[in-house]
Amino acid sequence: MFQADRMRTKHRLLDLNRMNQKPLPQYPALRPRRIRQSPALRRLVRETHLSVDQLVLPLFVRSGKKVRNPIASMPGVFQLSPDELAREAIRAHALGVPAVLLFGIPDRKDDRASGAYAKNGIVQQAVRLLKKELPDLLVITDVCLCEYMSHGHCGIVHREKRGATILNDPSLKLLSRAALSHAEAGADIVAPSDMMDGRVLAIRTALDGAGFSDTPIMSYAAKFASAYYGPFREAAESAPKFGDRRSSQMDAANANEALREVALDIAEGADMVMVKPALAYLDIIHRVKTEFGYPTAAYSVSGEYSMVKAAGAKGWIDERAVTMESLLAMRRAGADILITYAATEVAGWLKNDR
Ligand SMILES: [Zn+2]
Repeated sequence: MFQADRMRTKHRLLDLNRMNQKPLPQYPALRPRRIRQSPALRRLVRETHLSVDQLVLPLFVRSGKKVRNPIASMPGVFQLSPDELAREAIRAHALGVPAVLLFGIPDRKDDRASGAYAKNGIVQQAVRLLKKELPDLLVITDVCLCEYMSHGHCGIVHREKRGATILNDPSLKLLSRAALSHAEAGADIVAPSDMMDGRVLAIRTALDGAGFSDTPIMSYAAKFASAYYGPFREAAESAPKFGDRRSSQMDAANANEALREVALDIAEGADMVMVKPALAYLDIIHRVKTEFGYPTAAYSVSGEYSMVKAAGAKGWIDERAVTMESLLAMRRAGADILITYAATEVAGWLKNDR
């Protein structure tokens, strides 16, 4: 080895030592390959694990009976009527999936999102049914207005000559009503996804005021305006009719701002925080977990799911291996909870691996 190379190697190792704050042996004493020689050995030293306990299955519910509308861009995902929703939940729960996350598709939309907080709204009906059929299954409800608004935005829209704005504070009242109606129907956890400022505090206050002080809030704390949501908009029929969501969701370029969003939500009473999307935002997951140490959820969104499904169907990638590796990466980054459309499949794979 040339002198310069040797010096460079030495410096690199010194850097590593400094990073670890303790002396590290050097080659040939240190041979990292030694502990990779057999499956059992690799299992023994594995640092991160995937478990069915971490999985949450998102489900889309709409009115009717025996309805299973396939989402073309998300193979294996359907809009389900409540009876079919229960079947899907039973299948996931039987494989050990502890929780589902519900999204509603109402029959009618208006500019007050009244379906979002109707006592007999589609999500409220679905929650009551699931809690009756599967009392042990955790039912998390997505709290937002966009699926119920005729214009598809997450808050009340004020139209002016120069364009439309989303009114933050008036929207909080509607979001609180929606969250409270979910809790009244029996939801175990409410998950506000709208990204309005102050929504966690508004929802916490509304829940506490109505005797639901034990209902946890999982906030979509760092939710980015992302092109990865494309297939979801078809699934939830929630695409905005004009404009986009860049005034409420975060700019993909911002990480420090994500930490501020999370800090705010925790200060307002969030019990769990979420980063969405997941795979392209592993640095955010890592920083959120390191900074706050709160239960952290990663939402592996529709686009992530669809890309793997499509490439898998073409035989370009190994769908199962890529799915598992991606979820493991989210865990390694710091996620405790994995929200994925592949939850039932993953639960099946994990069971077979045991
Ligand atoms: Zn929304």
